[in-house]
Amino acid sequence: MIIIMKDNAAKNEIAAVESKLAQIGFQTHPIEGETKTVIGAIGDKRNISMNEILLMSGVENIVPIMRPYKLASKEIKQEKTIIDVGHGVMIGGKTLAVFAGPCAVESREHFFKMARAVKEAGANILRGGAFKPRTSPYAFGGLGEEGLKIMRDAGDELDMPICTEVMDTRDVDLVAEYADIIQIGARNMQNFTLLREVGKHNKPIFLKRGLASTINEWLMAAEYIMSEGNDNVMLCERGIRTYETSTRNTFDVSAIPVTQELTHLPIIADPSHATGNYKYVAAVARAGIAAGADGVMVEVHDCPECAVSDGPQSLKPKRFLQLMDELRGIAAAIGKEI
Ligand code: PEP
Ligand code: MN
Repeated sequence: MIIIMKDNAAKNEIAAVESKLAQIGFQTHPIEGETKTVIGAIGDKRNISMNEILLMSGVENIVPIMRPYKLASKEIKQEKTIIDVGHGVMIGGKTLAVFAGPCAVESREHFFKMARAVKEAGANILRGGAFKPRTSPYAFGGLGEEGLKIMRDAGDELDMPICTEVMDTRDVDLVAEYADIIQIGARNMQNFTLLREVGKHNKPIFLKRGLASTINEWLMAAEYIMSEGNDNVMLCERGIRTYETSTRNTFDVSAIPVTQELTHLPIIADPSHATGNYKYVAAVARAGIAAGADGVMVEVHDCPECAVSDGPQSLKPKRFLQLMDELRGIAAAIGKEI
């Protein structure tokens, strides 16, 4: 439920309501607006006397949250969440986020080369995998901590935030030490222990949609993270498994306006994993931005045929540069910028 405080309610009134709720076992999440503070309260309603709360000083009203996800819901917060990911980059506002880089960090030299190329093209966030979820246990699984170091050094040298995946609860502290944005991959979207673990950190989380997840399940996964206290969650539509086999996955373009109706969290389009084929990446990236996504994530590699993972869907730097121009035009047409 949401406790709506009166306009300009005093800090001690807000604190008293929070402490009353905490006493009866509720988790509280105050959200401060310009004039009003609302308190999201999550817990067992059977333990509470609504009247007692309603009669507390400074309380205006109590409304239930109908959706199964609470903190992620627009019911609790109308304004869009804008996430500060460091190095001067904000995600969710007028300026679009462009995450770019190779699927995996392959070597220091290669990552720096790709990082410089994508920055020059206009990307504002570096992506790369140091811990890779691979279908085959025999495939390259990433450079681990060495990969994280390479990314961090590139991010610092080029003054760009870095986004990288964590797959295991045992690696969360390590990844959080290096990364600006922690990615939860599609395969782990319902790894609830991992979701809770990253929720205990304050680093922004990039939550990919599960391979065959509904929007509701995806938002429930965001709720797991937020329920641990981390409100900085962004979603990523990366295609879902359907009966269509001509692309690796099917990009669900309508997930963009649907999630924006349901949640205040930013959403990023990933045309690379959605299509699995470089030929379709630009068209789907353009569609994602046109549909209102807060940014894109694109895999870029200068030698797709020698890439250790996801070569077939990687754009060469030159094509990525051209895509950035195309996206700038679309962004301008819908009142955004890159
Ligand atoms: C990735 O971003 O490289 C990745 C493995 O993505 P997904 O989890 O969407 O498959
Ligand atoms: Mn990949």
